[in-house]
Amino acid sequence: MAEFFRPDTLQAALELLARYQEKAAVVNGGSDIVIDISQKRITPCAIVSIGQLTELRYVREDKDWIRLGGAIPYREVAREPICQKIEGLITAISNLGSPGVRAVGTPAGNIGTAAPAADCATMLMALGAVVVLVSTQGERTVPLQDFYLGRNRTVKRPDELIYEICFPAIQPGEGTGYCKVARRKAQDIGKILVGARIQLAGDVIRRAAISLGALNANIVRACSLEEAVTGMKSAEAQQYLKETFPKEAVLRESYFKEYKELTTRAVVAQAFSQALASAERRK
Ligand SMILES: Cc1cc2nc3c(=O)[nH]c(=O)nc-3n(C[C@H](O)[C@H](O)[C@H](O)COP(=O)(O)OP(=O)(O)OC[C@H]3O[C@@H](n4cnc5c(N)ncnc54)[C@H](O)[C@@H]3O)c2cc1C
Repeated sequence: MAEFFRPDTLQAALELLARYQEKAAVVNGGSDIVIDISQKRITPCAIVSIGQLTELRYVREDKDWIRLGGAIPYREVAREPICQKIEGLITAISNLGSPGVRAVGTPAGNIGTAAPAADCATMLMALGAVVVLVSTQGERTVPLQDFYLGRNRTVKRPDELIYEICFPAIQPGEGTGYCKVARRKAQDIGKILVGARIQLAGDVIRRAAISLGALNANIVRACSLEEAVTGMKSAEAQQYLKETFPKEAVLRESYFKEYKELTTRAVVAQAFSQALASAERRK
């Protein structure tokens, strides 16, 4: 039987993780890990709850960075005026789970699970997010695109917590978009997820970030597409994306391969169009 801890401070939580190391399980909103524990897919000796830590429940903007605390739930992120300007993030969150899941589940948990079809993490990767990890040994930062080692595997050590996820604030001429294809419209894990963040200079794509979820063992950036569309006029870039399958995506041999290839191109183009429209509004 596992021991249950509900520490009052971040320091106390970190000391528990330092003591129990890989025998500890961190529970945040619990929407993923409680299922794993109850189905005995993992059998920790110590369960360390962190959802109550007010030190980790914040959204703030400082020095042109948006910072999401490691225990802030989706519902509170979506209510923040600074996040409501980030259309792609709001779309990713509103497409995720149910109101109940969004009330307890957190962006940090979405990253921590390292599932390939994680909606919020896919959008955060396009936003250029950086993960701030903390332990009793100190703090370190890891770009989200370097955080994953594969399906359900990350560079986070067992004694570390995700303290914060931060990304550069949206500047004039920048826009974001998010598009998800799933079998059902609600409460379904996506089959293809795409996040996009672009910056326009006049009618030209000055910078582009495109992330792909659910296609590989972990979420990836579509660097080949990003490089190709940079410097193109927006209409040319949209046409290019409709016609080009990202080199980074790996499609398994299956009956659905051709469908997935066609749909991936369409979904990338759609997320990009949303980002373009949002950038146009912010010029
Ligand atoms: C009905 C249902 C529908 C769902 N639908 C979707 C969906 O459509 N899209 C989607 O992406 N996900 C979906 N999920 C998955 C889940 O809700 C999300 O992944 C959620 O973000 C997990 O957050 P949490 O705070 O509940 O994480 P938890 O379950 O508490 O933790 C998840 C993992 O992350 C680790 N972790 C959490 N926070 C931290 C931290 N601060 N530091 C270190 N490690 C941490 C935990 O140790 C654990 O390994 C669904 C889940 C359910 C139950």
